[in-house]
Amino acid sequence: MSSPPVERVYVALGSNVGDRAAHLAFARERLGALPDTRLVAASQVEETAALGPVPQGRFLNQMVLLETSLPPRELLLGLLELERERGRDRGERWGPRTLDLDIVRYGDWVVSEPGLTVPHPELPNRDFWRREVAELEALSPARA
Ligand code: ATP
Ligand code: MG
Ligand code: MG
Repeated sequence: MSSPPVERVYVALGSNVGDRAAHLAFARERLGALPDTRLVAASQVEETAALGPVPQGRFLNQMVLLETSLPPRELLLGLLELERERGRDRGERWGPRTLDLDIVRYGDWVVSEPGLTVPHPELPNRDFWRREVAELEALSPARA
């Protein structure tokens, strides 16, 4: 039996409510425990000011590199479930959140579907994401 292809996936973690470091630690642990998924590396944690129209506290951000054979849509469902478990309240768009988990890149895939865009369209605009991806690429270069 052939095993399903494994993809290298960058997932952005963000938190600006409650014990932010604990929310990130929860995410790292549980992402690595998703089915057919391994946490390969994690970037440094960076603190950033909130973007957008809603005044709110500063974020802790971190990027992780996963190897997974979960298809993108299944991975997204897993991320949304982890956000819910951490008490994410979707009351206000761009509002404060205990945990935000975004798929930034999924291998070389390009996905444009309702509810799922990959690479994440904000990647070119978020310098901290680009720094974190570069850090992980240096830590764990893709095999040729
Ligand atoms: P931003 O995406 O600008 O960082 P956000 O993370 O605050 O904003 P959310 O409220 O977390 O936005 O997500 C809204 C919806 O975005 C999700 O329900 C999900 O279906 C959709 N979405 C589309 N593409 C992606 C992606 N690459 N990663 C995560 N969610 C995505
Ligand atoms: Mg986000
Ligand atoms: Mg999100």
